[in-house]
Amino acid sequence: MSELPPCPKCQSAYTYEDGELLICPECAHEWSASGDAASENVIRDSNGTPLADGDTVSVIKDLKVKGSSSVVKVGTKVKNIRLVGGDHDIDCKIPGIGQMGLKSEFVKKVVE
Ligand SMILES: [Zn+2]
Repeated sequence: MSELPPCPKCQSAYTYEDGELLICPECAHEWSASGDAASENVIRDSNGTPLADGDTVSVIKDLKVKGSSSVVKVGTKVKNIRLVGGDHDIDCKIPGIGQMGLKSEFVKKVVE
């Protein structure tokens, strides 16, 4: 194993591993060794930025809307997304188009 990182809380260097967790003996802080405990469940945008419910994203490529001739244009801003998991892991309402599912790989988070 490589060197363990210091405790993020108290900077103690005496951290040790316990399975998936790192533990600080000085302040009893426990955290995930990989730094992203819930990485399996985290939905990330095309840049790898974690997304959350209520985020605003913009679409990074033209997306055909299933069952219609509409296209969600690249650059379209989508507000108040909801993460749902699955193939299309973002549920949202797009102005002029309506409720639809997006794939997180085709969006990027907009920081407002
Ligand atoms: Zn500590």
